[in-house]
Amino acid sequence: MISLRFAVEATGARHPFVVRLNDDYGLRSTTHDVYLAEFEGADAVFEGPGGLLRVQGLRSGEADGDVLLVIPDRNIAHRLIRAASDHNTLLVTERCDQLCVMCSQPPKTRHVDMFSLLETAALLAPRDATIGISGGEPTLYKDQLFGLLTRVLEARPDVSFHVLTNAQHFVEQDVQTLRALPAGSVTWGVPLYSADPGLHDRIVGKQGAQAALLNNLAILCRAGAAIELRTVIMRLNVARLTELAVFLVTHVPFVTNWAIMQLENIGYARKNWDELFEDTSISFGHVASALDLARARGISAVLYNFPLCTVPEPYRALAPSTISDWKRRYLSECDDCSARSRCGGFFEWYPDDRGFAGVRHL
Ligand code: SF4
Repeated sequence: MISLRFAVEATGARHPFVVRLNDDYGLRSTTHDVYLAEFEGADAVFEGPGGLLRVQGLRSGEADGDVLLVIPDRNIAHRLIRAASDHNTLLVTERCDQLCVMCSQPPKTRHVDMFSLLETAALLAPRDATIGISGGEPTLYKDQLFGLLTRVLEARPDVSFHVLTNAQHFVEQDVQTLRALPAGSVTWGVPLYSADPGLHDRIVGKQGAQAALLNNLAILCRAGAAIELRTVIMRLNVARLTELAVFLVTHVPFVTNWAIMQLENIGYARKNWDELFEDTSISFGHVASALDLARARGISAVLYNFPLCTVPEPYRALAPSTISDWKRRYLSECDDCSARSRCGGFFEWYPDDRGFAGVRHL
C-alpha cells in the first residue's frame, strides 16, 4: 500500500505547516516549497525558508511535487497531495450528522479546524488536478468550505473539486454562492440509497434525511451545480434498485451521473459485512435492470468499485477503475488477467474469504 503518512523531524517548527517537496531547485518557488538537500540513510532531508525537514523512508523521485501537512509536535506528516496520483482527497472534518450502517470512516465528535492549511495544500496542487473533499460531513462547516472553494478556484482556475456531502445543510441562500463558483469546477457527490424514505433514513441513521436531501438537490439544481448521485448497494437496498432508477429518472433527471457502488470492507461495513455485502458476481440482475432503465432515460449510470470479472461482459464498459491507487490491490487470480490494466481490482482490506464468488482472470 502506498504510504500517506511519514515520520518526520522539522527543525525549529512548533505549529502545523504545509510544504511542497521538490527534488530540484526549479520553477516552483513559493514560501511553501522545500528542496531536497541530501539523503542520510533512509531519510530524505529537505531545506526551505523555515529550516530543515527530515522525512523518513522517502526515496529519490518518489514524491517530487507532493504536498505534505507537517505536524511538528507529533513528528508526522500527512501526504495530502501526491503529484503523480489522480486520487487526492482532503478530509476536512471527522464529524457527521448521519450514522450510515456501512460508513467507511465512522464519525468522531471532535473537530480540528484545518481549513486554512488544506486551502494552502489545494493551492499547491499540480496543474489540472481534481481534488476530492470528504469527511465526516464537509458542509457542517459550510462557510469555511465555500470560502476554500471560492478562493482556490479564483487563484487556480485549472483545478476542480469533487465534494462528498450528505446534502443535509444547503439552504436557499446558498444558491448565489454556488452559482458564483466557476461552471463545472465543483461536482457534489451525494449518496441516495433508496426511493423509499424510510429505507434511506434507516441506512443513514437519520430520520427525515431523504426529504432534506431531495429538497437540497433541488437547491443544487437551481444553482446549476454538477451532481453525482451515489448508491452503495447492499442486501438492504439492492432488490429495490430498479425502483430507485425509476425515481431518479422521474424526480431528479438533472443529475450529471449516477454511480452504483460496491461496498468497501472497512469501518462499519467491516463490522456488518455479512449482513450487508451483496455478491453481484452471482446475481447482477437488479443492477443490470437499474442501469438499463436509467441509461435508456438519459441518466449516465456507472459502476464504481466493481472488479471487471464480477460484471457481465455487456456492462464492463460502465465499470471504470475507481479504487484509489493507494488502497488498491489485486488477487492471485489477477495474475496474467488480460483485463488487469483496465480493472480497479479490490480494496486493500477486501476479505478474500468472504468476498465475490465469481472472481476469475479474463
Ligand atoms: S481477475 Fe483481477 S484483474 Fe482480472 S478482472 Fe478480475 S479482479 Fe480484475
